Amino acid sequence: MKKKSSILLIYTGGTIGMMQDARSGELRPFNFKALTAQIPELEKFDITLSSISFEKPIDSSNMHPSVWIKLAEIIQKNYAKYDGFVILHGSDTMSYTASALSFMLENLAKPVILTGSQLPIGIIRTDGKENLITAIEIAAARTKTNKPVITEVCIYFEYKLYRGNRTFKYNSAHFDAFKSPNYPLLAEAGVTIQYNDAYLLKPEKKAFKVHTALENDIAVLKLFPGLSKKITLAILNTPGIKAVILETFGAGNATTEAWFTDALTSAIKKGVIIYNVTQCLEGRVIQGMYETSSHLKKIGVIGGEDITFESAVAKLMFVLGKKLSLKETKALLQKNLRGEISL
Ligand code: ASP
Repeated sequence: MKKKSSILLIYTGGTIGMMQDARSGELRPFNFKALTAQIPELEKFDITLSSISFEKPIDSSNMHPSVWIKLAEIIQKNYAKYDGFVILHGSDTMSYTASALSFMLENLAKPVILTGSQLPIGIIRTDGKENLITAIEIAAARTKTNKPVITEVCIYFEYKLYRGNRTFKYNSAHFDAFKSPNYPLLAEAGVTIQYNDAYLLKPEKKAFKVHTALENDIAVLKLFPGLSKKITLAILNTPGIKAVILETFGAGNATTEAWFTDALTSAIKKGVIIYNVTQCLEGRVIQGMYETSSHLKKIGVIGGEDITFESAVAKLMFVLGKKLSLKETKALLQKNLRGEISL
């Protein structure tokens, strides 16, 4: 007889488990038992479900690298015991958490699916039930040869399964809240769940490894016409700064004004990493395509390819956390580590 799949649900908080405060009308997290009581369907699953709940569930706007470490450690501790993991998480920062976990969990051979909802589970029109039920089904899915179908960190939301580190939240009003403009859907749930096998990450035949060192001394410099020299210098010269995400125009372009190039050059000389990520949601950074990006390439700005902003933040924290030489750090940033960039 085939063994039942066992899935661990990890409840961090988010709208899915929130209730309206009677007095203020604010949405606040409530406990996990109350959440599962709202979904009696879970008992009908032919899957062994266990759960771990954060003692104090959080709105995901309070997400922090220390919580990513906690999540990675929960998965590490339970890795051998379960066939898959479903993380209930607020949608606001879900793409950041999915990206961070994708880097922290190396050689993953089991599914880690993040999901949540736009409406609390207690509301009749909630999207939370379908999201949770199908996320569990995906986490438990096996191939004909009894291997897990998914072996990466994903987001499941509104009938779509995405590679987590390719997503961003683009809509706060629609159930269809995420987009993955530079990578195809991994699966779509209709009457059946259709997997796009060609796009799934194949598991490495190496031992599962969890990385918990993250470095958050990083900043973002978003370009706009008229960005001042004073502000630029203040960011680049922040004491202790390790890296700056330069949010550029179009295909990775920036002003060619001398003061700007000089400021970047001097930061790079001091060992600060400048990581070029485009403000465009689709397309990629190609340094050298225009005159307005050739200067960046020349002074040693690292091109982010087609990485999302969310994934760039997570990748920087992960790579810097390794405390490698500057050369190795820059090489890792330019390498595709978990399917986060197309080269
Ligand atoms: N503010 C909520 C959160 O991210 C929104 C949601 O869950 O969709 O925790």
